[in-house]
Amino acid sequence: MVLDYGKQAAWPNGFGAQESPIALHDAQVVANLHLAVTAPYRMQTELDDGTTIKLLGLGQVQIGTKAYDCVQTHFHVPAEHVIDQPAALELHFVHQNAIGQLCVVAVLFTKGAENPLIQQVIDDFAPGTQHAEAIDLSALMPTAGKVYHYLGSLTTPPLTEGVEWYVIQPKHATVSAEQAAWFVHQFGTNNRDLQPRNDRVIQCFDLE
Ligand SMILES: [Zn+2]
Repeated sequence: MVLDYGKQAAWPNGFGAQESPIALHDAQVVANLHLAVTAPYRMQTELDDGTTIKLLGLGQVQIGTKAYDCVQTHFHVPAEHVIDQPAALELHFVHQNAIGQLCVVAVLFTKGAENPLIQQVIDDFAPGTQHAEAIDLSALMPTAGKVYHYLGSLTTPPLTEGVEWYVIQPKHATVSAEQAAWFVHQFGTNNRDLQPRNDRVIQCFDLE
């Protein structure tokens, strides 16, 4: 069943006070965070899931002392997390660690120059299908910028909580207006509404 972003209030949500996305204001500034790709994000399958493009494949990130394996990556247009003003596109690298904890690294793209890797994903997209794909998305993982960390949820049903979020505002990451418009034309807007922050702490790091 395709998700209806126009009827989000009706999405089943048996959870409580730690939903995503949220506005990332008033963060606690913390020391630098080590975040590095330790195995390339080699995607092997590209599919139309009805609400976005999903890419399944491998990849691993080391965040601090923890390693997380990539499960899939996908796109939201416009962005879901908001820092100052809404970004054009948000890429989700969805990971799981050895004990099943979910960790999403989200990368915010502003409007500007065309992104060649995302263009390849667009060019290879075939509506209504799932097909083999060979693309390395490692270059989309930023190496400089700000990282916002908080505890939240999946942003699509089942909206499960306990997800570690690392939302990156890179120094330079853009998509063109045409690329953002392509996603909206294909899928409609697919960003979940901002959720209450409640008493959650947001930490902000310099990415290194
Ligand atoms: Zn997502």
